[in-house]
Amino acid sequence: MTVRFLVLCSLLVLAVALPVRADNGWSTVAYPLAGPPQVIGSHAAGCIAGAMALPLAGDGYQVMRPSRNRYYGHPMLVRFVERLGQQAAARGARLLVGDLAQPRGGPMPNGHRSHQSGLDVDVWFLQQPRDRLLSRADTERIEMPTMVRAAEGTLNPSRWSPRYRDMLKMAAQSPEVDRIFVNAIIKQALCYSETDRSWLSKVRPWWGHDAHFHVRLACPPGDGQCKPQKPFPPGDGCDADLANWVRDIVRAALSPRPFRKPEPPSADRLPVACNAVLYGPMARGW
Ligand SMILES: [Zn+2]
Repeated sequence: MTVRFLVLCSLLVLAVALPVRADNGWSTVAYPLAGPPQVIGSHAAGCIAGAMALPLAGDGYQVMRPSRNRYYGHPMLVRFVERLGQQAAARGARLLVGDLAQPRGGPMPNGHRSHQSGLDVDVWFLQQPRDRLLSRADTERIEMPTMVRAAEGTLNPSRWSPRYRDMLKMAAQSPEVDRIFVNAIIKQALCYSETDRSWLSKVRPWWGHDAHFHVRLACPPGDGQCKPQKPFPPGDGCDADLANWVRDIVRAALSPRPFRKPEPPSADRLPVACNAVLYGPMARGW
């Protein structure tokens, strides 16, 4: 019996015996797990094996906050971002890409409840000119500007651009995209301005998301361990429910409550199969 074999056996025993560690195990593991891509669980309680790193810059996009090491995802997600970047580049723009997932997915100690399964990506509304590449320091420093006047329930016309609507529409029309979260005020403005509202069905209202949009891909075809999200109701969603969302956002802006930092998502809810993802060997080539 070789030493390597013994080490492998003890690793496997560890993987079975140890509970999934709370958050920090997932946020400190530096590299993806080797092997074919496999999503396990859901966007808000899941992990990913065989994730790919999105290159930090490509034609029409650049990754922001790279020091967080959250630029990993299912190859389908990486291809989606690269393609959206090319579409932006064709229009003379460069997208600023926020968080995807940690190298093996899982809960993050701050910032998101989802983004756990390598199928979510945040894209800033703010864009750069195609030929402007930000310095590394700027990718860590530049603030993400809001596009809404929350207390008035309207877009901020001095910030908003039809270019941002174009990228949102192109993302929504990508077949692999399940849904996109934006601030309800942004969705409502689009409900008023769009003549063809069919693409708005995938654009779902949420809190925050006034400076970036959050794209969520559907489970990859044939990926049996990936748990899909419940489908949303049919229709374009330009309805009374959306109006309620906007009303609540305006109210919250007018009488803000003291901010209570939410608890980070727990690792206890992850599928057991995520143990082997967290404790398995790193992908070759890293
Ligand atoms: Zn997000």
